[in-house]
Amino acid sequence: MKTQTIGNIRVDRVVDMEGKFAALDFLLPESNPAEIIAQAGDWLCPNFLDADDQHVMMSFHSLLIRTDRHTILVDSCIGDDKERPNRLPWHHKKGPFLDNLRAQGVQPEDIDYVMCTHMHGDHVGWNTQLVDGRWVPTFPNAKYVFARKEFEFWEKENYQAQQEGREAELNHGCWFDSVLPVIEAGKHQVVDSDFALDDSLWLEPAEGHTPGAVILHAKQADDHAIMVGDMLHTAAQLAQPSLSSRFCWDPVMSRETRTRVIDQYCETNTTILTAHFPSPTAGRIIRNGDAFKLDLEI
Ligand SMILES: [Zn+2]
Repeated sequence: MKTQTIGNIRVDRVVDMEGKFAALDFLLPESNPAEIIAQAGDWLCPNFLDADDQHVMMSFHSLLIRTDRHTILVDSCIGDDKERPNRLPWHHKKGPFLDNLRAQGVQPEDIDYVMCTHMHGDHVGWNTQLVDGRWVPTFPNAKYVFARKEFEFWEKENYQAQQEGREAELNHGCWFDSVLPVIEAGKHQVVDSDFALDDSLWLEPAEGHTPGAVILHAKQADDHAIMVGDMLHTAAQLAQPSLSSRFCWDPVMSRETRTRVIDQYCETNTTILTAHFPSPTAGRIIRNGDAFKLDLEI
């Protein structure tokens, strides 16, 4: 992804992991991969979808925002060293994420805020790192911002899971290794789902993928971008917006949110910054026959 500029806000991508993820009809259980490739393969393949084995190409990255006042990390990916036996590519992973961050000229100490669009394990992982056998906040000077509805849902779910001895199964146990240590360090801030970080950056509820998912707006003068998280999980959902992912908490609500946002920003100058699309990762939504596509000329 090229550096995106929204007024004097700068957004860059910091990659944790990327490559082939899974079959399209695993990620989108109601999809017909052959139909999608026939309909939209001209722009989806090979970058977002492998036409031969019908597997989705995925990126797990953070969006690094720099304003005049703050340095902000949106969605902290998978993390290293995590116990993830139910997803082997993530299990005890060692990756270049912090080197990729430093390559952008940013040290972990420089991050002022860490935000997540929702609290799945691939969006909170780098909240913490393993130091001397303990999970500690990776970004020592950051406030970790969580949307209240999302936070309270997962807090309750994880309490329940812990009572039942299945805390390692729920979201791969990410609450315990990637959220709880941040709370115990007193570095979290629970905010409303329309929280404004400043005049140029604010949250908007985008529920469905999870109960309290949010998107993040960045706007200065006529420049506008939205960071959409997993509301758009894969580019194939622009070809068929009705398709929700298997990881959606409420597939019907997820579809409604996705359709609303696509309709609202289609053919506008709003840049869509995605959480899992491989580079170019950012683009504008344009019409493509009866469906939509990402304008990649950005
Ligand atoms: Zn995700």
